[in-house]
Amino acid sequence: MLREFSDGILQRLYPPTCVLCGAQGQGGLDLCAPCLADLPRNRHCCRRCALPLPAELPPGALCGECQRRLPPYAVCYAAFRYEGPLPILST
Ligand SMILES: [Zn+2]
Ligand SMILES: [Zn+2]
Repeated sequence: MLREFSDGILQRLYPPTCVLCGAQGQGGLDLCAPCLADLPRNRHCCRRCALPLPAELPPGALCGECQRRLPPYAVCYAAFRYEGPLPILST
């Protein structure tokens, strides 16, 4: 209950603001809905190491490096490709 109260005060003092465009943030995030929707999701990637794959390769394929030698881990997940606005967000 104290946490909810303090979160409510913080939301009023520092409302979520999109770090990319300055619009009002949504869902408690410092991103607005359009900017969140535009983030480069890593949907077509190597099933082992999550490296983005060329469009011509089928879903679930392995990248060239993993075909040559599998990495020592079973799987890797990367929600986004490191491109577009993401380098700005990480600085
Ligand atoms: Zn935005
Ligand atoms: Zn791979």
